[in-house]
Amino acid sequence: MKIAYTIMVLAAAFVARAEINVVPYPSSVVEKPGVFKCPAGKELRKVVKLSKDASIPHEGYRLSVTANGINVAASDKAGAFYALKTLEQLKDATSASLPCCEIEDAPRYSWRGLHLDESRHFFGKDAVKATLDQMARFKLNRFHWHLTDDQGWRIDVPGHPELIEYGSWRPYSPKRPPEGGECNKKKQVSDGKKYGPFFYMEADIKEVIAYAKERHIEVLPEIEFPGHFRAALAAYPAYACFPERIKSRCGRGTWGIEPEVMCAGNDEAIKFVEEVLDYVCKLFPFECVHIGGDECPKGRWKECSKCQARIKAEGLKDEHALQAWLTRHMVEFLAKRGKRTIGWAEYLGAGVPAEAMGMVWMGQNVPRVVSRGASEGHDMIVTPSPFCYLNHSQELKDDPYPYGGGGRTLEKCYSFDPCHGVTGDAVKHVIGGQGCQWTEYSWDQKDLEWKYWPRMMALSEVFWMGEKKPGLDDFKRRATVQREALIKDGVNAAPLP
Ligand SMILES: [Zn+2]
Repeated sequence: MKIAYTIMVLAAAFVARAEINVVPYPSSVVEKPGVFKCPAGKELRKVVKLSKDASIPHEGYRLSVTANGINVAASDKAGAFYALKTLEQLKDATSASLPCCEIEDAPRYSWRGLHLDESRHFFGKDAVKATLDQMARFKLNRFHWHLTDDQGWRIDVPGHPELIEYGSWRPYSPKRPPEGGECNKKKQVSDGKKYGPFFYMEADIKEVIAYAKERHIEVLPEIEFPGHFRAALAAYPAYACFPERIKSRCGRGTWGIEPEVMCAGNDEAIKFVEEVLDYVCKLFPFECVHIGGDECPKGRWKECSKCQARIKAEGLKDEHALQAWLTRHMVEFLAKRGKRTIGWAEYLGAGVPAEAMGMVWMGQNVPRVVSRGASEGHDMIVTPSPFCYLNHSQELKDDPYPYGGGGRTLEKCYSFDPCHGVTGDAVKHVIGGQGCQWTEYSWDQKDLEWKYWPRMMALSEVFWMGEKKPGLDDFKRRATVQREALIKDGVNAAPLP
């Protein structure tokens, strides 16, 4: 009798447990017997009783579902919003009724990001809005918008129409391989078709920012320099070290690191970047601006008389110190406009002030790079390629979409820990991470969605729960339910392995 009773209790607990199919899983859940039946045709947010509780952390919430009603407490609007997202997921999983439960929840990391490269391929504001909707569902709160690079310049800047005229198209882009085919970075095949012009006007960007704000997402613009600057040089060859080497007045056709970079010895080139950043500061309300800073080959600077004159005049050691000088100048420029600078982690060091933030992308020595930046006082965002680069294959059987490399399985994403190997005080400067979508080998919105989901669900749980994440098998059970909900909403989510 006792055994039968125990089995019954265990079975009941299992059933109840299986109903809390929330991704990311909340910090604390107490399941209760019973369900709340949402009145037919009534929106969830209209049945919730909301109260303010200043003791609840930023973005956190307390949620109580009983048979008689739903109560939510939060200290801010973001917390109340996330309570609603949890309720929507509970409802997704159980149709019109919600399992009774008590939830207390708050994120482990303040930076829970998703990145989209619109320079290599351009997707447009409808695709961006769809992405923002999907982000909000999983409590992601930073949209990193990669708007400029060698291959294309995507933001209209008043007073600089040449950026669009010359920089917003490329002579060709890579040929899409046949279904199931690999992309070979070493042997690139052109599709032979002009790609572009594609770009956003001010009104488009304002629309996206407003849409994101309603979903408690901040939009981080990225303007890359001094490397990854070829599309700008198409518009203004004079800002290269050797203007005569800018042969084509358009973005770069192929993938790869462009040797022609911004001339750091040219005051006019610096003034141009300042004008762009000044506009970006006014347009984007978020307190941070990303200035790139990675992969700047120094070959042209070594040959260039203007760059060498700058090195001499400023008493700099070499070309690396010249980049650090330029970075410091721009960090100060942004600080005067009330902005904090973010750059890819190689830009740190060499006197960049502590309030500038680092974004770690390379896969080597991640704990060392994060710890060094954090111990110098920089807030660090950790997005190492081996865990967070979604343009690499998720290793599914019969995957119809092409990738630029392999090894980013769902399991690999879920195993990510932004604080891995970081100790002591440095931990508090690790503010989160993001998934990155580089798009040389992505062609449309369906392609993006397939590569985001379900892997971004895994990363959302990493960023929300940190060390407390419940484990891969538990995650996969919940993610399966949430993937079905995405599919029902028309999102092209990939299957779980
Ligand atoms: Zn130069």
